[in-house]
Amino acid sequence: MPTLYVVATPIGHRDDITLRALQILRQVDTVAAEDTRHTRALLDHHGISARLVSYREHNEERASAELIARLQAGESFALVSDAGTPLISDPGYRLVREARLAGIDVVPVPGANAAITALSVAGLATDRFCFEGFLAARGPARRKQLMLVRDETRTLVFYEAPHRIVDLMADMVSVFGEAREVVIGRELTKKFEQLWSGSAAAAVAALAGEEIPVRGEFVVLVAGALPADSTADETEQFRVLSLLLPELPPKKAAELTASITGGNKKDLYAQAVAIKQSKG
Ligand code: SAM
Repeated sequence: MPTLYVVATPIGHRDDITLRALQILRQVDTVAAEDTRHTRALLDHHGISARLVSYREHNEERASAELIARLQAGESFALVSDAGTPLISDPGYRLVREARLAGIDVVPVPGANAAITALSVAGLATDRFCFEGFLAARGPARRKQLMLVRDETRTLVFYEAPHRIVDLMADMVSVFGEAREVVIGRELTKKFEQLWSGSAAAAVAALAGEEIPVRGEFVVLVAGALPADSTADETEQFRVLSLLLPELPPKKAAELTASITGGNKKDLYAQAVAIKQSKG
């Protein structure tokens, strides 16, 4: 059966590749790679002499059509990217989608991924998280994207290139506030691996002072926003409703309380009726 294997490769340390990935890379007819020279070095390190073809962002459309035709003719391929898991902020989406639509078997061969690697050691909540990947390159668009996740309570995960990390952190201070907890994973699994944690404002200072060198690859994790304090909201709603009820009918008191506190009119009406009844 012709098969497209989607194979994860290391994000730094060359030995962070699974036994199954090495076996698949040995066995397939061809390996489709983002940068064939980079992948050749990895394969050489593991003594694998596979045939390589280029599959990258700028030739994705043409290369996908060619690879699908070859898969349909019976060849098997492994798709790899320069680092980590293909398709995760890397090319491959078009090929995988078209292969599946064409009824070709697409088989995952999982392994390293920078976001999960950073999450596994950051000490931030991992039960739920939002992968935001790379944000827009330009400041206004980037700040708008940050605004959209400002109140997100799940841990946020960003990828960033070294030439934008300073601007990204400055924008995070302006949108999330100085105190938001941040963990920066730099050069993970590599020689100069660094895991830094502190406030967003401290991160800006650490980058300015070279405590965090502005070099290498970065994953930025941001603690989720604190959930809105619903208990405080409810206490305020009850206080306003109780003040208005002796003066107004329940429906009117609920309406006014809703517009003053932002509470839910229907819930407040039910509460108003209950308060009235309890007072006989
Ligand atoms: N497909 C990859 C994955 O599975 O994580 C991501 C590829 S994306 C083009 C490259 C970005 O991933 C880098 O700019 C950086 O944000 C992050 N990254 C990759 N390797 C990393 C590493 N060793 N340490 C920190 N971040 C890394």
